[in-house]
Amino acid sequence: MAANFDISRIRNIGLMAHIDAGKTTVTERILYFTGKSHRMGEVHDGEAQMDWMAQEKERGITITSAATTTYWKDHRVNIIDTPGHVDFTAEVERSLRVLDGTVALFCAVGGVQPQSETVWRQAVKYLVPRIAFINKMDRVGADFNGVVKEIKEELGANAVPVVIPIGEGEAFRGLIDLVDMKAIYYDDTADGIELREEAIPDDYAVRAREAEAVMIERISEQDDRLMGKFIEGETPGHEEVVSAMRKATIDGRIIPVLCGAAFKNKGVRRLLDAIIDYLPSPVDLPPVIGTHTESSRELLRHPHDGAPLAALAFKIMSDKHMGKLTYVRVYSGTLRSGEFVYNSTRDRRQRIGRLFLMHANKQQVIDELPAGNVGAVVGLSDTYTGDTICNMDHPIVLESIEFPAPVIDMAVKPVSRADRDKLGRALARLSEEDPTFTVKTHEETGEVIISGMGELHIEVIVDRLKREFNVGVEVGKPEVAYRETIIGPVEHDYRHVKQTGGHGQYAHVIMRIEPGEPGIGFRFENRVQGGRIPSQFIPAVERGIVDAMAEGPYAGCPMVDIKATILDGSFHEVDSSDQAFRVCARTGFREACKKAGLELLEPIMSVEVAAPEEYVGAVTSSLCSKRGKIGELENKAKVSIMRARVPLAEMFGYASELRTITSGRGEFTMHFENYEAVPFKLAEEIIEERKKKA
Ligand code: GDP
Repeated sequence: MAANFDISRIRNIGLMAHIDAGKTTVTERILYFTGKSHRMGEVHDGEAQMDWMAQEKERGITITSAATTTYWKDHRVNIIDTPGHVDFTAEVERSLRVLDGTVALFCAVGGVQPQSETVWRQAVKYLVPRIAFINKMDRVGADFNGVVKEIKEELGANAVPVVIPIGEGEAFRGLIDLVDMKAIYYDDTADGIELREEAIPDDYAVRAREAEAVMIERISEQDDRLMGKFIEGETPGHEEVVSAMRKATIDGRIIPVLCGAAFKNKGVRRLLDAIIDYLPSPVDLPPVIGTHTESSRELLRHPHDGAPLAALAFKIMSDKHMGKLTYVRVYSGTLRSGEFVYNSTRDRRQRIGRLFLMHANKQQVIDELPAGNVGAVVGLSDTYTGDTICNMDHPIVLESIEFPAPVIDMAVKPVSRADRDKLGRALARLSEEDPTFTVKTHEETGEVIISGMGELHIEVIVDRLKREFNVGVEVGKPEVAYRETIIGPVEHDYRHVKQTGGHGQYAHVIMRIEPGEPGIGFRFENRVQGGRIPSQFIPAVERGIVDAMAEGPYAGCPMVDIKATILDGSFHEVDSSDQAFRVCARTGFREACKKAGLELLEPIMSVEVAAPEEYVGAVTSSLCSKRGKIGELENKAKVSIMRARVPLAEMFGYASELRTITSGRGEFTMHFENYEAVPFKLAEEIIEERKKKA
């Protein structure tokens, strides 16, 4: 297949699901049926095509966000891998940014589970068109109509079946296709993949007609022309149904629902047809929005090969043989191997090395990657996740992917001297791949601290260190990543003067510091007038403050959410230097912070517990005892959902506690919400504790 491909026949899709709904199995079957996967690996054999990393196979969760290119009925389908676990929200969000449509998977028995809600809400946030696939129709207790009802009621979606199952549970044999009004049977041959199309059996005739009528009515509500026909009692044709359904799906007004049993190879090909029929191609969507690098003017980029290049790097992965691979989505223009491009996020010129389409088990070298495509690039040494790649003469920065700050720290120690060198290199590689994973070395003790989004996230990293990079490490306990900030605004005047023989040092800075809105990190403003501090020294002043913020004066934690404005100062013709201004700003800022008053901040998690109603009391009181602020309680068909905001510090080991208090029937998810002040008395205790350990 040529790299150039009619853009209207490209589908960039992802699959999203609650863990265990069958995402890995469905992905594998898609790859199998699209002819790219030679054998069908089962999850328990650890042969999953997209589960690249050893420990991922063991855990049975997919955490990488690679892209796989495959073909179905003259269409190119790029599958962007999306992880299901909430510790990896950044991965989910980044994949949602670059895909054009998703398949939401549900288990026919489990229905809408808490995590499927989380990812669903993310997809809604990014306006990603969705179709639903109810998997595991072969399981005892499978209930197609029940799950459709849950999708409507619990997710508030206009779910419209385009197929209905023939039989459920052990009796599941096939589908009735409501668009073409025919039956599709899947015969259990040795391979289990024989497909047979027939007329609708008599015992399903009434049900099929009713379901067809519902489908037509629901799409007619979205399409005036069809509404006219519907009122006249006419049945629209295949093309009319598909195109009206497609339009409503792309606009997010309808969620077409399909079903099957991926494990038994049933319903997957019909799902592929639906992906092509209902999910958008890049040209069906609005142009991507960015800003001009200098004027900050809003710019649009349309999905044309000939337009100026605009692409987003959405994933970095290191490959044993090829080295650093940068996955990119091209929104407009064409990426060509050998050409120079501009990384507008970092203001760097970069040369595109080799370009690839990544198939399930091989890579295909290509010369160019035109608008609408997803592929991998070798040679982008200075490009990181979220960066924009564009044409040097048409600079644009696409909205970057936002990554939350890591909230858990853990100390890691190399076992041997040889491990020490390997550790540094491995950690650098891992943090390059994953912007929510950071590494720092404690200035005094030399201790290496790694930070991530949750216990599982850190565990996975440590696992990879051991297996993939063969580094022997000892790890400490996971700990909360505390931060500190100032309480009030102050102005501070500080002069750094040193006279040590020859040249002296002179710098003088008057600054105002004030608390910034939560989440801003650090904002710097220069208001010095008349060259009272020459502009060449201003970057050194900023650097000095950034230095000081790395270790706050209260608890030695990184400082956040501070605005610093340089108001005035003075300099000396001979004795002033970058170094002098940097030291001056650092010391002056520290003093200013102490004057402003300081507080310790801790990560607050938004926690969602799902458990049968009889456990509401026990769960609520356990959350209260953890300094939790209890939010709304929602009673659903099967479970009660309790929401609360709880400090992360109180949530360690909650999985086993919840298991105990709900006799194993409760489930919870949590994700980082924001940083909030720790109550003073507790803060003092925490700081005392940290001092003892240091
Ligand atoms: P993921 O966690 O969403 O990737 O789910 P997996 O694909 O790993 O599937 C979870 C489990 O469900 C595995 O044991 C699969 O074999 C099983 N499974 C997947 N699809 C089906 C299905 O259609 N029917 C049945 N009965 N089991 C399935």
